[in-house]
Amino acid sequence: MNKCALVTGASQGIGACIAQRLAKSGYNLAINCYSQSTVENGGNAVAQACRALGVEAECFVADVSGFEACAGLVRDVLERFGSLDVLVNNAGITKDGLMVRMSEEQFDAVISVNLKSVFNMMHHAGRAMMKARSGHIVNIASVAGLYGNAGQINYSAAKAGVVGMTMTAAKELGPRGINVNAVAPGFIETPMTAALPEKIRESALAGITLGRFGAPGDVANAVNFLASDEASYITGQVLVIDGGMVM
Ligand code: NAP
Repeated sequence: MNKCALVTGASQGIGACIAQRLAKSGYNLAINCYSQSTVENGGNAVAQACRALGVEAECFVADVSGFEACAGLVRDVLERFGSLDVLVNNAGITKDGLMVRMSEEQFDAVISVNLKSVFNMMHHAGRAMMKARSGHIVNIASVAGLYGNAGQINYSAAKAGVVGMTMTAAKELGPRGINVNAVAPGFIETPMTAALPEKIRESALAGITLGRFGAPGDVANAVNFLASDEASYITGQVLVIDGGMVM
């Protein structure tokens, strides 16, 4: 039986690309989508693309900011695929604004989706992986969580928290044969960054050593490596994927 990988927020952007990269590596794919409409507007197409690569794939609706929703998601995936070997915590949102203008709702929403969801998922999936005494978890952080980014105090706090949780989970789960790592992308071309004003895109590009924005595949290839046995002696690490933007 093929191993199973679960990718959160996999209906579009980086998550959709990671799902297809892992399918190419032979994993059955559990594609988490925020809502039924996200399944119809992206998730189903991602599942179809994974199946075309010869694996089984199915969409699972869950808002990963909910603790019980994540319990149900992990339970459903285990029932459907029999094991959970790789977890990629990818779901994320932005609600940007300068700190002095940011509302409490903007702050709380990003913490809830980008930070708490990672705890929720590692808590529930970690239990199943501990029983199996194996597994790989890859969390999607951001360079904003390592270096800060004006206009993103909520987002950078959440992503810095993801880095801290990655190291803590690595220490707690390592003795049970589970690897936990993070990637910290820079500026990747997805619907999230397409929404940014042209001025911000131009100034970001000027700071990228390799002279181009990243593609979702640049992140997916690194995640695929960290999720594989080739990375079996790597844990608690944060791999920056930013074309040399910050160094
Ligand atoms: P994206 O295109 O906006 O995709 C985000 C995905 O997350 C969507 O499928 C979205 O579903 C889903 N999602 C949002 N809230 C959710 C929830 N509560 N439960 C389940 N799914 C939810 O963004 P992206 O650029 O691919 O970003 C993916 C990850 O990479 C995020 O964690 C982001 O912070 C991180 N990242 C991105 C960049 C970049 O430059 N793009 C850089 C660094 C880090 P809906 O569409 O239905 O909301």
